[in-house]
Amino acid sequence: MDFPTRRRLLEGVRRAHQADAARTAATRAHTRAATALAEARSRLTSAAAERLPAGELEAARAALNDLARRETATRDKLRRTFAAARTANGVLGALYAPHARGRGTGGLTRSEVAAGLLGDLAAAPRELILAADAIVVSTSGGKDSLVCGDRVVALATEAGCLDKVVMVHADLGEESEWPGVRELAQRQAERWGVRFLVVKAEGGLLGLVERRGMWPDAARRLCTASLKRDNIAPLFKQITDALGLDGQALILSALGIRAAESPARARKTPLALDMRASNGRRMVLTWHPVLELTEADVWHRIADAGLEYHPVYDALIPRLSCVFCVLAGRDVLVRAVRLCWALGLDLPTRYVALEEHIGHRFKQQFGIAEVVAEAARAEAEEGPLAWSRGDALRRHVGEEAAAGYLRRLAAAA
Ligand code: SF4
Repeated sequence: MDFPTRRRLLEGVRRAHQADAARTAATRAHTRAATALAEARSRLTSAAAERLPAGELEAARAALNDLARRETATRDKLRRTFAAARTANGVLGALYAPHARGRGTGGLTRSEVAAGLLGDLAAAPRELILAADAIVVSTSGGKDSLVCGDRVVALATEAGCLDKVVMVHADLGEESEWPGVRELAQRQAERWGVRFLVVKAEGGLLGLVERRGMWPDAARRLCTASLKRDNIAPLFKQITDALGLDGQALILSALGIRAAESPARARKTPLALDMRASNGRRMVLTWHPVLELTEADVWHRIADAGLEYHPVYDALIPRLSCVFCVLAGRDVLVRAVRLCWALGLDLPTRYVALEEHIGHRFKQQFGIAEVVAEAARAEAEEGPLAWSRGDALRRHVGEEAAAGYLRRLAAAA
């Protein structure tokens, strides 16, 4: 099956999915309207209604008429969406039939059809890059984003498509992130010679917590969605508008996540159809180019390619995320507090004050105030935190490779 056919089929999958989602929403709306109408009817025919003053009875009848109109409108919409979903699924079946054993999708569910198509596309990244109209690499500036950017840029350069690549950084601000993160992400993009865009997440993590009056957690991880994903999503529309194509644009959205990071990430596939961001004007495919890499692979690539990484990794902070990430373990948080003190940042005080103000613990098991107290004890016993540039590489790839890396970095400066 060639690339255009796969893409047509994927668009068929998207349309069928969208049509089914619209039908589900219409079903719910109609159920709500029908229930409200039935309840209003029963109230109006009850004995109590007979005792209502004439004015109130009139108003209740008018409200009933409104509800009846709403019920009719939602029923009509349900019929239309039902027919549209049947058509969209029929079209997908007809498109897929020549490539399947048996009729329609050959017994495969829509998800299985999509998984097969996406798996084939992911196995041919060069074709994917050649077909894409734009390649958006989301970068936190961290090590995985760095290696993801490096891989995408290498593939795009090889395919002669570097001009399609744009790096996007969601800037959470210095109240949330370590100093110099945005500048580092920009230097990385400049080194590769690709465009660099910044989207601002106003208020950052502290602002979000202040507004909600509670800290996010693993089960309600609203921070990633509202601080990063939701801020980057409008870019897809802007990029589509700027492309000004007659047909549907194909946008690759590359993310530097790795399967080894968490069970949730291990369930991700190399390529996925972003239903939320896609529509008739654009198809957005989420691409995970470094999904299979281990942490050691990442550090080896950084050393081999002389890629500039953020110095907090040298101080044993494993991820360049928010200074105090709600998902981080206690030892990492303690170290983050000590690193703040070493860098002269007042964030620990601000986080403790916010925790006290909202009356909600940073994590279910412990508060940030306890973390700060533990950091103070460690500081009293061990003295201030000490680290050297290149320590992260020394730990992961050895002294010699780290020395070579530092020489390259110095020469490039
Ligand atoms: S780094 Fe942690 S706290 Fe910050 S947005 Fe991501 S999950 Fe939330």
